[in-house]
Parts: sequence; structure tokens; C-alpha cells
Amino acid sequence: EPLTGTVLAVQANFYWVRLHQKSLPKSLLLCTRRTRLKKIGQRVMVGDRVLIEEPDWNGDRGAISQVLQRQSELDRPPIANVDQILLVFALASPTIEPYQLSRFLVKAESTGLAVSLALSKSDLVSQDEQQGWKERLAEWGYQPIFISVRQKSGLDELKQYLNNKITVASGPSGVGKSSLINQIIPSVDLRVNAVSGKLEKGRHTTRHVELFELPTGGLLADTPGFNQPDLFCLPQELAQYFPEIRQKLAGKSCQFSDCLHRDEPGCAVRGDWERYEHYLDFLEDAIAYEIQVHQQT
Ligand code: GDP
Ligand code: ZN
Repeated sequence: EPLTGTVLAVQANFYWVRLHQKSLPKSLLLCTRRTRLKKIGQRVMVGDRVLIEEPDWNGDRGAISQVLQRQSELDRPPIANVDQILLVFALASPTIEPYQLSRFLVKAESTGLAVSLALSKSDLVSQDEQQGWKERLAEWGYQPIFISVRQKSGLDELKQYLNNKITVASGPSGVGKSSLINQIIPSVDLRVNAVSGKLEKGRHTTRHVELFELPTGGLLADTPGFNQPDLFCLPQELAQYFPEIRQKLAGKSCQFSDCLHRDEPGCAVRGDWERYEHYLDFLEDAIAYEIQVHQQT
């Protein structure tokens, strides 16, 4: 049986690979890429499942001989085989800004991956307020997980959701994403950077991509907090990134196949839902983006 593993981090021309097989002398190897892979231009990404040859159990080294078929490939951050995206927003401090949340959701949906939402700092708001968000977001097509790192609530539900999946966490800054990740990945030893950090003494690593291992199985990547994601999508694609529209168009269709759901005759997407304004606004961005794409070609 060939050795296989998952790439947790990439460092220059080296790859940290967690081996899948149990009861091996070592389970984390620092690997190079075989020359053959370089020749055919085969890239190795974080999240890749790979075949390992020539393990050197004393030196903790190995060589990647093959990259297995990817299930998915994210651009930013560059990670293969991501199963789902977890957006983290705070219920308070900072309060949820619906337009911003909507933008993050649409951006996440545009990857084609499953999207979930965690609402943090639940200790700062009342039960009624949480219930209000729950109902409102259900209208948007989402079932948020309510969490508080301070009160340690909702964490089991979140761990369940992360179990045995590769997840990318995203969200604005200040929502408590770092606190959350530190809470669910308590031991720094589980992080590859505890190891890889030794190789990087004195060197700054910006945009370092890394998968953290959850004690119960599952891998999690963090992304730096940012406040306004760019939506690079085409007008015709935008509708499918809104669960509300997907639902409205299930088993129905607009009169025109290229309908953009503004106020075209025979449109099946009426404007009787909260985020319709967001849709129209993002559509303007998408139209501008399409013009820009045409000008470049
Ligand atoms: P990040 O920018 O999203 O990584 O946010 P941090 O993890 O750095 O947290 C930002 C601030 O929110 C810090 O002052 C935390 O102490 C606070 N915070 C994080 N989680 C919670 C929580 O569950 N409840 C409350 N009340 N504050 C929290
Ligand atoms: Zn329509």
C-alpha cells in the first residue's frame, strides 16, 4: 500500500505532509517534490492529497511523487479540496452590518462550496436578539451557529460541523475569529507552524497558508480579516449565489433565459424579499466587472 498524506503547509520548496496511515514511525514529514512533478509543471497546494515515496523516518523527510485528483481548488487562499466555508460574524462589537454580511455570503457562495455562518459573541446579546437573527437569516437561506468563546457555548455544534472536513474560515476583523480558532485548536503543538516556525527564524511570512488540525479530525484554515470583499462575478452568475433566488427559481423559470431579475416581463424572481436591494446593488458591480473583462480582451 502506498503512503498517502495531506499537505498542511507549504514553505518555499518544502511541504509539510500529515500521513494518513496509522502506526507509522512518524506521521508528519517535511517533503520535497519529485523532479518528475516539476517537469510536468504539477503544482502542489495546501490541502492536496499526495503519494509519498522514500520516507526517511530518522530525518522526518519524504518525497511527493504524485498529487491525487482534486475535489476543489480555491484561489484565495490557495487551498485544494476545501469542503466548506465558514463565515464568522459577531452579534455585537462590532454589530452585524447586513449589507457587509450579504457581500461576504455572496463572495463565499461564488466559490461553489457549501457556506455556513457562525455568529460569535452571543454572550453580548439577548436571547430575543439571537432569535431575531435566526429568523431573519432563515429568510436569507442560512442557519447560523451561535457561539460564545467567552461562555464556551456553541463550540460543540461548531466542532461537529468541522468534523472530518476541510474548512476555510473568513470574516471581518474583530469578530473573534482568532479567539475561536485558539479555543477549538487548544494545543499549539497541533499546529504545523509550531514546527515550521523553527525553520523560519527571523523571516516574516506574509500570506502564509496553513491548515490547522482539529483534535477530533478535520482541518481548518484561517484567512486574514478584511472588511469589504470584492465580488468578481458576471451578471448572469450572480443570482445563483443567493439562496432566495435559487429557491424562487426551483421548478420555475423566467420568460427570458438571460433574465437578470430587475423588472423584466415574466420574471419569476419578484422583489418581495429583504436582500433584493443587495442583489440589485451587487448586480451593478457585476455589470461593471463584465465591461472591464470585455475591455481587456
Ligand atoms: P479577530 O480579529 O476576528 O481575530 O478577533 P479576536 O479573536 O482578536 O477578538 C477581538 C475581540 O473580541 C477581543 O477583544 C476578544 O477578547 C473579543 N472576543 C472574542 N470572542 C469573544 C466572545 O465570545 N465574547 C466576547 N464578549 N468577546 C469576545
Ligand atoms: Zn427573472
